Amino acid sequence: MTGSKSTTPEPLAPPPKTPDQSQSKKTRKRNRSELETSPTRKRPKTQNRAASSEICAETNTPGLQLTYEEYHRQRDEILSAIIFDLNHVAATQKACREGAPDKITKLSYQSQKTYAALVVERAATRISGCEDKFNPDYREREAHRLEMVAKKLGWRMLAICAYAESFRRLCREEEDRWLWGCVYTKIRDFAYNIELQACLHALDWRSLLLPYWKEGSLPGLKKEALGSKKKLAELASTRPHDIVIDPVKKTFRNPVYKNRIQRDVDASTFDPSDWVAEQKGDPRDPTLRENDAKFTWYGSCDLCASPGVCSCRLKRSPSDYVQLVEAGTKGVGVRALANFKAGDILGEFVGKIMPPNYRDDNVYALEVQPKTWQRIDGSIALISPKEYGNWTRYLNHSCDAHTVFDARTVGDRVIMTVEARKDIAIFEEITVNYGNGYWTTRTCRCGAENCVEEVKKEKERKRREKEAAQRMIEEEEKEKNKKKKKSKKQPS
Ligand SMILES: [Zn+2]
Ligand SMILES: [Zn+2]
Repeated sequence: MTGSKSTTPEPLAPPPKTPDQSQSKKTRKRNRSELETSPTRKRPKTQNRAASSEICAETNTPGLQLTYEEYHRQRDEILSAIIFDLNHVAATQKACREGAPDKITKLSYQSQKTYAALVVERAATRISGCEDKFNPDYREREAHRLEMVAKKLGWRMLAICAYAESFRRLCREEEDRWLWGCVYTKIRDFAYNIELQACLHALDWRSLLLPYWKEGSLPGLKKEALGSKKKLAELASTRPHDIVIDPVKKTFRNPVYKNRIQRDVDASTFDPSDWVAEQKGDPRDPTLRENDAKFTWYGSCDLCASPGVCSCRLKRSPSDYVQLVEAGTKGVGVRALANFKAGDILGEFVGKIMPPNYRDDNVYALEVQPKTWQRIDGSIALISPKEYGNWTRYLNHSCDAHTVFDARTVGDRVIMTVEARKDIAIFEEITVNYGNGYWTTRTCRCGAENCVEEVKKEKERKRREKEAAQRMIEEEEKEKNKKKKKSKKQPS
């Protein structure tokens, strides 16, 4: 963004932020290289044109200044920064509400609220027609954009976005109207996703609108925009991955499997009674490193390289940047709310730790494999998240997936992780490859160029060719034998 002066100076913003998702890794999974050869993601090239019609009111700006790819890249950076800011402000508000915040947290909360309130006030002034007629250019640009968000996406959306410093700067400082149009269009398309994210993280956007509602001084501010205080409080106390969002119907629900609500948990659980038949005596959790007597199967820690048990833990922060959404015929899916980079560890696959021969979860269960592959029989346990698990269980399959499941040794145990094998853009549905074994008795309809169904078809074609060739050889043999017999019968 290009800088210009403002009458309400905000502190200089840091460069575009992304969630702290990167976690150092010492090893890579075997045979990953074969998965890395897929073509790069192609983005639709119509977004900018669609966006341009929305912003025709902005004048005196030149035409396209960047390539489509560069516009999309910058758009995604700004959107990612907006979600990051909203999460950050919500966390600061929570700290102030619930605990004894330090001075800096308090100041940060007050300043964020003041800046957000000013943005709402500017939009209100503009829409009520009370603003100064001789605005400087940047002020006119900002007022126009805020008016557009308030009128087209609603006051609630404006109040939410107002909390994001990156949104405020976009409205005030971004001179490229095409880039503004790109970001605006995505905010419009994913407005419900952004709104739910803000509500689930207990962002207090309501207090920005309440004074205007009481005064009745904001044109177009209807009671629905404020929502029900009770329902918002319920949402704020809900675990974000305990609900599935339907952005089309603008509703949400609990995920359900076999009539039981699926619950979001932070860590895997081990119940010795599940292992009585598998292990004699006192059953032990086989994923714990202390139970891997020789420290050979699990290798050293992937974060600190310690050969023995250490205190490392995976960071949880990437999970604040994914959302469960309705995915049509595929059921529930996972949408990214940040830009993730290839190599990022997005999370741990958690659930009930069950014996490898457990057969009661053929939908979600994932094998835990010892990292060093020194055990010939492969898996040491199954993780079954059919009832208790986290967002990773809802990743849909693609033969050209963004992520892979990987075995890692971290801290005191061996875990299964979800790791990005290519960049993931904000608001994309995140996919994972379930592996060819999963599809031997099922049909994949992912439609990817390298789809396992194509491989199956190719195998089937070769099998038929081989069979046909075999039949031909057999018939030729038969024919030869017949001739031989005939020639023997005929007297010389
Ligand atoms: Zn470690
Ligand atoms: Zn496929």
